Amino acid sequence: MAEAFLEVDERLDSSELQAVSVAAGDGIGPEITAAALKVLEAARAPLTFQYIDMGLECWQRGLSSGVPADSWEAIRQTGVLLKGPMTTPQGSGMKSLNVTLRKSLGLFANVRPVRAYVPFIASHHPGADLVIIRENEEDLYAGIEHRQTQDVVQCLKLVSRSGCERIIRYAFEFVMTRRRKRLTCMTKDNIMKLTDGLFHQVFDEIAEEYPDVETDHMIVDIGMARVANAPEAFDVIVTPNLYGDIVSDIAAEVTGSVGLAPSANVGESIGVFEAIHGSAPDIAGKNVANPSGLLLSSVKMLAHLGMGEHAELIHNAWLRTIEDGVHTPDVFGSGHSHQRVGTDEFADAVIQRLGERAVNLGQAHYPRRKLLTAARKPAAWQERKLVGVDLFVQARDMPQTLAEDLHAASRATHLDLTMITNRGVQVWPTGAPETFCTDHWRCRFLMHGDSPHVLRNRDVFALAALLDSAGIDIVKTEHLYDFDGTPGYSMGQGQ
Ligand code: NAD
Repeated sequence: MAEAFLEVDERLDSSELQAVSVAAGDGIGPEITAAALKVLEAARAPLTFQYIDMGLECWQRGLSSGVPADSWEAIRQTGVLLKGPMTTPQGSGMKSLNVTLRKSLGLFANVRPVRAYVPFIASHHPGADLVIIRENEEDLYAGIEHRQTQDVVQCLKLVSRSGCERIIRYAFEFVMTRRRKRLTCMTKDNIMKLTDGLFHQVFDEIAEEYPDVETDHMIVDIGMARVANAPEAFDVIVTPNLYGDIVSDIAAEVTGSVGLAPSANVGESIGVFEAIHGSAPDIAGKNVANPSGLLLSSVKMLAHLGMGEHAELIHNAWLRTIEDGVHTPDVFGSGHSHQRVGTDEFADAVIQRLGERAVNLGQAHYPRRKLLTAARKPAAWQERKLVGVDLFVQARDMPQTLAEDLHAASRATHLDLTMITNRGVQVWPTGAPETFCTDHWRCRFLMHGDSPHVLRNRDVFALAALLDSAGIDIVKTEHLYDFDGTPGYSMGQGQ
């Protein structure tokens, strides 16, 4: 172990220690947590640990969130949680604990580094070393879903400018402080021009503030295909929630690093750090689990806390351990393995190498300061003008019949029927005879072209009341606004 490092740390007194909440988790959780804490203590990381309850046992006691009130309190006080994997009881209807934590604690960024350790651990992609930064709170994961008609259900995709700014600025800061070079934004803004378009637009805006970072944008389908085929071509990726969920699993899978990969979930005031694997009940209690995912997560936690020196010390010792061929059974024999060890012995091997560096696997570097997580520019306030409404109706009619009924009922209003779509595809005033139609129609009404009338909500409600009296079955309304003269709504496909 590096003597010089111990000398530095022995000067610390208890007032300089950062408290960390620790939830050991289920299955292999307690073993790998003990191993990770042993290494943190041996490295003299300036931390104290507060053990908290969370997970299976809490669920079994009837706590639906899996987290007792005093554990929430402890996490809020320390601002940091090192979390072992938790078992979700099958078919229990229990909510995912991770989703609960992310949403409740405002953890807007999910950071997943993925890399190969060839030739010491086998991988099909020897050069892979990428980081995926996934937006964690918005998008389709808001969980706002409705059944609207007999045939059609919907899931709302919500994206905010402030949410985009937070995650994208975090990603640029990450690239700058972690000696990375390139940031790739992945969206599907060729189709979702408003939601994914906003994410892409904010990416372009913030990129101007970071001229030293190389940037590019990829449509997410080809982007994911390239990650699957050549993960070594990427450096850092920032992407909305759903795409990030998928691409981070693809990257870990194709590089063969699922068992080793750490993750961080970071908010403005709280960070949660955990391995990406689960509680592995099949090997629990056998001292064979690989503690690397959680140990590397605790390295990310140190970096998050601005303890870059300690993060480097442990990460470099871990790289050296892997390079020396000291491997747990899950990776033993897949590359240059020399010594097969259990969970506890692996932690001892890392401790023995504190102060050493890998020769072939490179060296870890971490910043000596915390990343910016709160920087946001106030959004410019734009003039919003109501210009119309999309009325969604359930009907079994043909579009022409529906249009005639809508026209007849809306004649005395300030609004004109301009378009009907079915599942987004225009079917009236023109459309293709082949378009398959469900019972769910979007009927777009816009204000008469040259009318001096200032449209108000009451005009929209009056229209809805007239249609309702005419027997038209409205299931949802969506107001249409212009913002500084720019339409804040999409056109119909084929329009
Ligand atoms: P899993 O990751 O627990 O296990 C998959 C396979 O990988 C198993 O063969 C297991 O033995 C092996 N494995 C996992 N981690 C390992 C390690 N550190 N060392 C060596 N081998 C390891 O996935 P699963 O079996 O689908 O899930 C088990 C439980 O974990 C479920 O209840 C699931 O809901 C939960 N889970 C929790 C989290 C979390 O808390 N973050 C994540 C995923 C799954």
